[in-house]
Amino acid sequence: MAKLILNHISKDFGTGGRAAVNALSLDVREGGFLALLGPSGCGKTTVLRMIAGFEQPTDGSIHLGERLLADAANMLPPERRNMAMVFQSYALWPHMNVADNVGYPLKVRGISGERYREKVREALATVRLGDYAERRPADLSGGQRQRVALARCLVTSPDVVLLDEPLANLDRHLKKEMEETFREFHQRSGATMVYVTHDQSEAMALATDVAVMSEGRLLQMAPPAEIYARPEGKMVGGLVGQGAILSFAFPDGVPRRVDWPSFRGLWENRVGGSGNADILVRPEDVVADAEGISCRVDSVLYEGERYAMRLSMPDGQLLRAYSREAVATGDDYPVAIRSAWRL
Ligand code: ADP
Ligand code: MG
Repeated sequence: MAKLILNHISKDFGTGGRAAVNALSLDVREGGFLALLGPSGCGKTTVLRMIAGFEQPTDGSIHLGERLLADAANMLPPERRNMAMVFQSYALWPHMNVADNVGYPLKVRGISGERYREKVREALATVRLGDYAERRPADLSGGQRQRVALARCLVTSPDVVLLDEPLANLDRHLKKEMEETFREFHQRSGATMVYVTHDQSEAMALATDVAVMSEGRLLQMAPPAEIYARPEGKMVGGLVGQGAILSFAFPDGVPRRVDWPSFRGLWENRVGGSGNADILVRPEDVVADAEGISCRVDSVLYEGERYAMRLSMPDGQLLRAYSREAVATGDDYPVAIRSAWRL
């Protein structure tokens, strides 16, 4: 196994519009779990297909460690890359039992005997289906079937596992269950994984690193907590996590991390500033404070453990905030902004 390196890769399908992928660079460390996050049509699947070898980059290069997988002039075919790709629709053979389904890729490679049985056993144990070897797919739940599909892709010990929105069509409950399965699968297998999704909460929950894409370009790559705390730019700030983006004319030299005393100062002197700054405010940083900025509750959503509010500030801009106490639309709700982030 080795590091997966995408160096300035582009894909222009020659259809006349903008390139599907545009000079995108990223590294996935060995054993890492990268989520490729972005809105539909931003080029995620195309990146994955270039890594897998189903598309050739029109520019840039892809390496696995020292080994060149592809550039505009060279193209290693998919079957020589030792990767496995899991699609949204995973097909199991209904007439084969679980063990035979999982072992199929080994049979194709001519592996048999004790080595075959050992590998199938290991793969089934990794997805915790050791007791299900003899079952037929029809006798399994949806989640168990997907675990069989994972075991089947793991059985050949791929260097890299590629997953393209594998949970997109599942209901919420099964989705949560499968997120745990994927996390565990990653920990137990030690495989390097690239996981494509447009769902930010899925990306944050699963990955060790998140790469945010828009219109074929990489906007930011960082561990989930860092993307959440220090997003680069409005697009990433708006895509990842909850929050409000405030825009004011501020004086020059607004720090990146703005805490309450300086936020209050900025707020009070906001008119006549020289630059427009976009300030991201997370709901958990907006706290009730009788001495704070006077806001009004615009709408409330009861979430069981808390009330999620939309507040309007004196100038009409919106904030999001949580309250443990009951609140009602129309209430006055003065707040302090403990901490904010300039985008
Ligand atoms: P995502 O997976 O993020 O939704 P895709 O990688 O599927 O995005 O698509 C990115 C862009 O590339 C889209 O504009 C899409 O229409 C275009 N595209 C994808 N595949 C092809 C293809 N085979 N031929 C032409 N255009 C394509
Ligand atoms: Mg896609």
